[in-house]
Amino acid sequence: MIVLKGIAAASGISIGPAYKIGREEFSIPQEPIKPEEIPIQIQLFEEALITTRKEITELQKRIASDMGQDEAQIFDAHLLVLEDRMLIEEVITRLKKEHMSVAYIFAGVLKKYIDVFSRIEDEYLKERITDINDVGRRILRNILGKEQKLFQNLKERVIVVAHDLSPSDTAAMHKQMVSAFVTDIGGKTSHTAIMAKSLEIPAVVGLGEVTAKIKTGDALIVDGSMGMVIVNPDEETLAIYQQEERKLRGVTEKYLSVKDLPSVTADGKKINVAANIELPEEIPSVKLHGGQGIGLYRTEFFYMNRKDFPSEEEQFMAYRYVAEHMKPHSVIIRTLDLGGDKFLSHLEMPKDMQPFLGWRAIRFCLTRPDLFKIQLRAILRASAYGKLKLMYPMISGVEELVQANAVLEGCRQELKKEGVPFDENIEVGAMIEVPSAAMTADLLAKEADFFSIGTNDLIQYSLAVDRTNEKVAYLYEPAHPAVLRMLKNVIDVAHSNNIWVGMCGEMASEETFALFLIGLGLDEFSIPPQAIPQIKYIIRSVSITEARKIAEEALTLSTAKAVESFMEARIKEIVR
Ligand code: PEP
Ligand code: MG
Repeated sequence: MIVLKGIAAASGISIGPAYKIGREEFSIPQEPIKPEEIPIQIQLFEEALITTRKEITELQKRIASDMGQDEAQIFDAHLLVLEDRMLIEEVITRLKKEHMSVAYIFAGVLKKYIDVFSRIEDEYLKERITDINDVGRRILRNILGKEQKLFQNLKERVIVVAHDLSPSDTAAMHKQMVSAFVTDIGGKTSHTAIMAKSLEIPAVVGLGEVTAKIKTGDALIVDGSMGMVIVNPDEETLAIYQQEERKLRGVTEKYLSVKDLPSVTADGKKINVAANIELPEEIPSVKLHGGQGIGLYRTEFFYMNRKDFPSEEEQFMAYRYVAEHMKPHSVIIRTLDLGGDKFLSHLEMPKDMQPFLGWRAIRFCLTRPDLFKIQLRAILRASAYGKLKLMYPMISGVEELVQANAVLEGCRQELKKEGVPFDENIEVGAMIEVPSAAMTADLLAKEADFFSIGTNDLIQYSLAVDRTNEKVAYLYEPAHPAVLRMLKNVIDVAHSNNIWVGMCGEMASEETFALFLIGLGLDEFSIPPQAIPQIKYIIRSVSITEARKIAEEALTLSTAKAVESFMEARIKEIVR
């Protein structure tokens, strides 16, 4: 048995035989042609372009009906390559000059294009190489008159193992035949990963040399949530995962049945269930799982993996995209939360002894108003295109909130003077993730339109447990009475000051705590998209009266263990 660790691209568990696929290799004849054959070769090329266009539009239609319009749009980039005049003319000119077969000429031009794009230092353009390569191979296949046969010979449901998969390869997979895939390369945000989430099959990418370690027929377990692949598992591991998979399957189906139903308690109280996203590419998954908006858009990921800071225009375009695509639902954009465990490669930050207690989040932004203003202006401008809200991370007291709001006010005045439209009533919230903020929530409530509780940090700061240190992970207890009391205080004072309160930390996505949080009166759960159906299901299963009683009783218990077993019992009784 070997255990391989990669990047968790799409959650879920799958057990099955490996099916290794290589790149479809074409042998391209280096054939000279006679001058009189040139028109025939040009015709062959044009026909291949027409067939390719037909294939892609058909693929788009299938994907639009199976997965949705947004996924189908991924292939718009492929259609654009087909219309690229420069590429087409270069092929024809070289064909007339060099007198070689069109397949040979086209393969050469394609290679040149890919080489040029590979040298450009731009992540977005680099991603486009996959599109060009993908559509290029399709054209080549059609010139050569070959059929696509990547998944045609499958006789049983398999787990695909590949060096990389193009979006076309992924789209050619049928859920009935491919139960998961794992790849050597690729990141969380590659189109391939996005397609896996939409197909709702588990996927682990960026495994390094998985293709060298696995052969067709090996028994595999793919744990998409942990980013783990187990090769030829022992009996005990297999039994554990078989049980997990069965449980997950039954439960998922039950939860998914309510994903598009209203999120109201049994006695009619509406509680919003929104999603946390890191990148705009996650929007299809939010919609697929019935998310009612985005409660946390972690914008710092936008600043990562690049050599400079994103400009106002670039940020505006991204925020506008999210606002427009989530309409009529709202989107809460969190301002830059750098520091702690999130750094930029190009920004020299002093090495704090304790980075989580150091120069991070709003502290960083308030000392770099130049950068902060660029982001605030971009958010305000995008607010004219949908329902945007914004919130600041790591607020520790009233002064910081007032200061941040003053910078925001400056941006509003500038935009007004410039005649640039924005939503004058945009809601501005404070994250409650520092104990001092939780204890002074009554004061902060006077300066904010809403609160969003960031339990990931609130727990680590309250219990003095580094959230990234596995040695003290056993002390990281969301159910600690100190945490529960703080949550109660924040929600109570928010309501007595007539503002609403959401929770965007991971605690909100845990089944164990849902009844407690409903009972405290939480107005919005903001959680990873895949967790939405389950939390909605729980909300629909309980009445507010019942949940309130549960919360009251949980607050009388003296240890996290006691709270957890109490909550477990209630969940079993009411929900399962
Ligand atoms: C939190 O701290 O709970 C939170 C949502 O923010 P992050 O996990 O990005 O620190
Ligand atoms: Mg946080």
